[in-house]
Amino acid sequence: SRHASDSDGESTEPAFYVVISMHDITKMRVAERMRADFVANASHELRTPLSSVIGFIETMNGPAKGDEAAQERFLGIMEEESRRMVRLIDDLLSLSRIELDKHVQPKSSVPLEPILKGVAASLEPTVQKRHMAINILVPDSLEPVQGDADQIHQMLQNLTSNALKYAYEGSTVTLSAQPVDRIPESGQRGIAISITDHGPGIPPEHLPRLTERFYRVDAARSRKLGGTGLGLAIVKHIVSRHRGHLDIRSILGKGTTVTISLPIYQGPREPEDHP
Ligand code: ADP
Repeated sequence: SRHASDSDGESTEPAFYVVISMHDITKMRVAERMRADFVANASHELRTPLSSVIGFIETMNGPAKGDEAAQERFLGIMEEESRRMVRLIDDLLSLSRIELDKHVQPKSSVPLEPILKGVAASLEPTVQKRHMAINILVPDSLEPVQGDADQIHQMLQNLTSNALKYAYEGSTVTLSAQPVDRIPESGQRGIAISITDHGPGIPPEHLPRLTERFYRVDAARSRKLGGTGLGLAIVKHIVSRHRGHLDIRSILGKGTTVTISLPIYQGPREPEDHP
C-alpha cells in the first residue's frame, strides 16, 4: 500500500485544486501588476510638473535673475503646473474614494436638470475662452435617477469638460437626457444622458482603452490642455457603482458622443410585511 510519504512523484491531490490555485495566483499577479503600474504612472505624472517647477525656480535664481519679463512668464507657467498637480491629486483622491465604496449602490433621488445646468454654469469660463456654446435638451417631465448627486455631477462635469477641451473651437456641445427602457447592466429602466461634441473625434482603435487610468490618445495635447488622464477612469467607476452603462461613440473628423445610462429612482422600499 502507498503512504502519503511515498515519494514516487505522483500527487495525491486532485488536479482541479492545482488549476484553481494557479488561476488565483494569476489573478493576484495581474492585480499586483496593475497596482504597481498605477503607482509608477501616478508618480511620473506628479514628478513631471514638479521637475518643471524646480527647473524654472533654478532659472529664475540663475540666468533669468533680474529679467522681470521672463520672471513673470515663468511664474505663470509655474502656477499652471502647480494647479495641474493639485488637480491630479484631487482626481487620485476621488478615484480611491469611489473605489472604497464601490460595492454600495447610492440610493438618493437625483433630478438631472439642475445638475446639467450647474455643470454648464461651472464651465462657463471655458465656454467663453473657446467661443463655444452649451445646449441643454431635457424633456419636461424627466424622472429623477437613483444615485449620488455629487458623483453624478462630477462625471457629467468631466465629460462636458472633455467635450469643451477637445471639440472644435466655436462649436456647440449638447447635453441631452431621455428615458430608456432597459439598462444592459441591470435590466432596469433608466435615463440616458448624452454629451455630444463636434470635434476631431477619437480613432476607433483607442476606444476600448479610453477609460484606463492615464490612457490618452495624445498625451502631449492632453497635458497642454490641463488634463490629468483620469477623467474617464473616474467616470467609469462612478457609472459602475451606480449599476449604469457607459457608451462612447466617435466619428473621425465629426465628433464624439458619450452616453451614460443611470437607473430611474425606485423610491424608498416598502416596509416588509411579516405574516
Ligand atoms: P484627459 O485628462 O487626458 O482629458 P480623460 O480620461 O478625460 O483624460 O480622457 C482620456 C483621453 O480620451 C483624452 O486624453 C483624449 O485623448 C480622449 N478624449 C476624451 N474625450 C474626448 C472628446 N470628447 N473628443 C476627443 N478626444 C477625447
